[in-house]
Amino acid sequence: MKQEPTAAARRAAVGILVVHDREDVKYFLCDMSDPGIEIRPLRQITGEAEFNEVFLTGVRISDTERLGEPGQGWKVATTTLNNERVAIGSGAPREGGMIGKVAHTWRTRPEVRVPAMHDDLMRLWTESEVARLSGVRLRQQLAVGQPGPEGSGAKLAFARLAQAISGFELELAGDDGLRYDDWSMRRPDTVDFTGREPGYRYLRAKGNSIEGGTSEILRNVVAERVLGLPPEHRVDKDIAWKDLPR
Ligand SMILES: Cc1cc2nc3c(=O)[nH]c(=O)nc-3n(C[C@H](O)[C@H](O)[C@H](O)COP(=O)(O)OP(=O)(O)OC[C@H]3O[C@@H](n4cnc5c(N)ncnc54)[C@H](O)[C@@H]3O)c2cc1C
Repeated sequence: MKQEPTAAARRAAVGILVVHDREDVKYFLCDMSDPGIEIRPLRQITGEAEFNEVFLTGVRISDTERLGEPGQGWKVATTTLNNERVAIGSGAPREGGMIGKVAHTWRTRPEVRVPAMHDDLMRLWTESEVARLSGVRLRQQLAVGQPGPEGSGAKLAFARLAQAISGFELELAGDDGLRYDDWSMRRPDTVDFTGREPGYRYLRAKGNSIEGGTSEILRNVVAERVLGLPPEHRVDKDIAWKDLPR
């Protein structure tokens, strides 16, 4: 089974620091071994703490650690985020990931099948296939350049599907679906979506619509930057950061 690395700031050698100073947004690389850096685990609904909050106290970062010219920080940051969204949203092979687990259960355990759920399974299977093929197209586009905002659509679809499929799987599993193996506070090095039980998948999928950009923000990105719809009203958009009233 495929295991994804967690964010794991505690193992990172280099962190990203996006700074709003009085002039603009700057993007720095920061040495995570600096003694002023404190990494505190953030515990999730699964019991695990895959990711962390990072505090910087008295940390000094030289301007030579800046990535991109002054004024380009936000562009570097969005490029980073676009890459992350494509990585999260366009990976699974045919019948891979969660839909593969559910299809396997449906085929191999006829006793759990409920005729009324068949339509739902077929719909989820078809949507997963559409998401997979869209991911293939996205990766082909990526082969000739940097990812654009289109990856936000893939990540948005991935989160919605992961939550729908894991909910379906829980229902299919009946009472077994509510079993959960380990609530102890752990800090795992990898996330194994498919290697564990349905209860874990159901709980872990809740974070999919938050991590790597919330679904609400991604809908804004798709609406404004992919579909070209009118942007949300923002009073601070055309004002330099240094001129914002504070
Ligand atoms: C499993 C998991 C792993 C994570 N890993 C990392 C990681 O590795 N690195 C990291 O930096 N962070 C990580 N995060 C944190 C995640 O990126 C943040 O939680 C996320 O960016 C949202 O920020 P917030 O929680 O402060 O919510 P807020 O920004 O406070 O938002 C609260 C709510 O308001 C909505 N909202 C905010 N602004 C708007 C707007 N303009 N329009 C519409 N809706 C809006 C949001 O969508 C959200 O629902 C992870 C989170 C999870 C659950």
